[in-house]
Amino acid sequence: MPNTEFPSENTTAERPKHVPRDPLTGVQRAAVTALVDSAQPVSGQLGDLFSSHGRQLALVGGPVRDALLGRESADIDLTTDAVPQRVLEIVDGWADSVWTVGIDFGTVGLRKRGLQLEVTTYRSESYSPKSRKPEVAYGTDIEDDLLRRDFTVNAMAVRLPQVEFIDPFGGLADLKAKVLRTPGRPEDSFDDDPLRIMRAVRFAAQLGFALAPEVAEAARNMADRLAIVSAERIRDELTKLMLSPNPRRGIELMVELGIAGHVLPEVPRMQLEIDEHHRHKDVYEHSLTVLDQAVDLERERGHGPDLVLRLAALLHDIGKPKTRAFESGNRVTFHHHEVVGASMTRKRLAALRFPKDVVSDVATLVSLHLRFHGYGKGEWTDSAVRRYARDAGDLLEWLHILTRADCTTRNRRKAAALARSYDDIERRIAELAEQEELDRIRPDLDGNEIQEVLAVKPGPVVGKAYRFLLELRLENGPMSKEEATAALREWAAEHL
Ligand code: ATP
Ligand code: MG
Repeated sequence: MPNTEFPSENTTAERPKHVPRDPLTGVQRAAVTALVDSAQPVSGQLGDLFSSHGRQLALVGGPVRDALLGRESADIDLTTDAVPQRVLEIVDGWADSVWTVGIDFGTVGLRKRGLQLEVTTYRSESYSPKSRKPEVAYGTDIEDDLLRRDFTVNAMAVRLPQVEFIDPFGGLADLKAKVLRTPGRPEDSFDDDPLRIMRAVRFAAQLGFALAPEVAEAARNMADRLAIVSAERIRDELTKLMLSPNPRRGIELMVELGIAGHVLPEVPRMQLEIDEHHRHKDVYEHSLTVLDQAVDLERERGHGPDLVLRLAALLHDIGKPKTRAFESGNRVTFHHHEVVGASMTRKRLAALRFPKDVVSDVATLVSLHLRFHGYGKGEWTDSAVRRYARDAGDLLEWLHILTRADCTTRNRRKAAALARSYDDIERRIAELAEQEELDRIRPDLDGNEIQEVLAVKPGPVVGKAYRFLLELRLENGPMSKEEATAALREWAAEHL
């Protein structure tokens, strides 16, 4: 959380004339020093090392921004005028290890005493607008490099070893105003790399910043340029947006600026016109509220940010527009929207190159999000409760949260009744789980035992018998070996 204060301006009155005016307030200077210290002695040594080779080195981007915001930063990013080959020579013998996967993009990765550092050579050329991959040309001037960064708040640097703060584009003022502005014209910036349009909404959600009006305008006008950006790069920004403290804000901005139409077109399509009788709420608004409530419950129940849960909350009703039907008496129905929605979810997330398990987990949650609604006041049998838990499997906790979050009625009595009845099913699941370790449900006889009892060789009969016993196990709970054997014999007599 931001803990840095931004007193308006430094007073220069008492400052001796020969000291250059430091744009940083005392608090900010302390934050920068703390950043440099946290990377010490490594960054200091590296600064000295580069300087002894006549090369420049500076902390840059995320870590500088985050230090000034009082946020923790994951990476230590550095920038230099030395070309990658030269960086390799300079750090040879100093770094504990070096990796070069990013070397074609000008980045050399280093590890020193458990710290991970990335050193990237100054850029001087813009990205090639038509290509999917940036073309790299190296520069000699840090200000040129900073000009090519996405936002002014990401275009601040701290030179090492002297700890000199560099902010040619007013990033500090924008940080204070909580606004995302581009160092140059936003149109040129987005033309160079349209991914920055996604980065703008990601940072808005992550940092709680606003887009400067000209940035929002350019993003809106150029959103279709995202088509040339690889799905993987978009996915990475969308993931950070969804895991941010305020994913709703990011999604709303994506929709408002027409970005969602190119990234998650199913989401703006949930903006259904409300029927004349106001019989159902706007599905889009409802989905955003469910997302918000899921984020709250996730925290209340002691979890960290979870991508699968949050995507499921956002997408759980995407099948509604396609399945909407108007029936007599102005009734609106969405039959099987959970099934249609699960298949739409699968397609969209796969197209965005999300990992296979994320795709299938989110789709499973979407397909299950209505199951609880048959529960009523607790009418389900133990067998139905067992099936509910088993079908959710590892996703059960997320299904609990999703189902609870999926109640957006303003009617307090209704909401309280739903919460109570969900408390009830959670309690029953917990009791059953304790009683029989639900999550390890197996038939009471294994494959070998089945073969022995039926005197058969491995083959389809064993599979059939196994499924029969599993069904029986789910239906009745655990049985003794004798009971299971008897049941299997009875079944075999009838079915084989
Ligand atoms: P995070 O906390 O998510 O790592 P970050 O600001 O460090 O945020 P990165 O994606 O790690 O973001 O990028 C590091 C820095 O590189 C940014 O701060 C920014 O200066 C610059 N940068 C990254 N991607 C782009 C881009 N597409 N266009 C211009 N500059 C970029
Ligand atoms: Mg970073």
